Amino acid sequence: MAAIASSLASVSASGDKELSPTAQKLKDLIEDELDRNQSLNTVTDGDEVILKDSYPKFATAAQVETVNNIGQRTGCHTCGSHIETDPDQPWIGDHSYPTNLEKFALEALMKNDDRYEKRDSIYLFPQCYECSNEQATLVHTLNGLDAKGIADKLKDAGEKERIYRLIHGDDKAPVPYTNCISSSGDKVTVNEGAYIQKLGTTLGCHSNKNHRVPSRRYIADHIVPREFCTAYFPVLCEKLGVDLPTKFALRPQCPRCSGNQGGNMSAITKLAIQVSAELGVAVGKDTLLAGAIRRVAQTKAQLAAVRQKRLAQITQKRAAGAIVQAEKDARRAAKRAEAKVRKEAAAAAAAAAASSSASSSSSST
Ligand SMILES: [Zn+2]
Ligand SMILES: [Zn+2]
Repeated sequence: MAAIASSLASVSASGDKELSPTAQKLKDLIEDELDRNQSLNTVTDGDEVILKDSYPKFATAAQVETVNNIGQRTGCHTCGSHIETDPDQPWIGDHSYPTNLEKFALEALMKNDDRYEKRDSIYLFPQCYECSNEQATLVHTLNGLDAKGIADKLKDAGEKERIYRLIHGDDKAPVPYTNCISSSGDKVTVNEGAYIQKLGTTLGCHSNKNHRVPSRRYIADHIVPREFCTAYFPVLCEKLGVDLPTKFALRPQCPRCSGNQGGNMSAITKLAIQVSAELGVAVGKDTLLAGAIRRVAQTKAQLAAVRQKRLAQITQKRAAGAIVQAEKDARRAAKRAEAKVRKEAAAAAAAAAASSSASSSSSST
């Protein structure tokens, strides 16, 4: 009992304590991050994958599948977009011909399929995720073959067509600023990316013109960040006065929103460790989620109990005050009534005295 009482006292005491500038900065960062985790609409249990016992760095394949099924029904939990009909999701800038395709392999393709033209430069075309992944596997396969192996592969008409689309592209030839742009290097620059985005939204995927959207897969977004679910974090948040949610889940997010969600988590983690030392919170990251949920729930229950107790005290005080006031009012009213009676009696006596003196004087006249 004593232990509970003292922990209650520390909860209320720490809540009133003023935070250091560093702690205040951390609190702001955490609250910003929690804001970013807010969903567009009210999310019901069926609209997310609830995490109960473990909080893996990467969602499992089954969880991602479930999240994608949810996404097809609800859209992105941050912006509401349904990616299967959204051409304005981020397009990939595809280097063409692929920079990591071996020279001999490209020559073998050119020798066996005259639709490939000789190019002096590398171009960037808009490409969808699906084709990008398929292309990466194909390049790996072609690099592993020899010229004869590639020639044999192209004997299959279907396979020849697929390779042409993925390596050359569905376009006839590169026409800069019409279906592509010149590539400045291995990395797609911000400006190049912006132009690719423009081309992608109007033209679609250059490897398959039927691909009008860049991605059909939702990303499993962690609600809240993993660091928030470590054992020490809820304790720290309680000391900072941050209201941490008790529910941890995966929700479908579109690639655009995922990209926009700039990570300030590394700043939070660094500061959190510093402030933990300041506030005497032991940083232990081994116990995940189950413990964290319990800690948050316990803290919330403690805070609620403290609030309830305070409220009861206030109500009691107010009730007692009301009784005292009512008694005072009654006493005052009684006094006023008494005074009134006395005043009336005095007035009546004075009037009687006046009339008797008047009558005696008149009689004497
Ligand atoms: Zn979105
Ligand atoms: Zn595609």
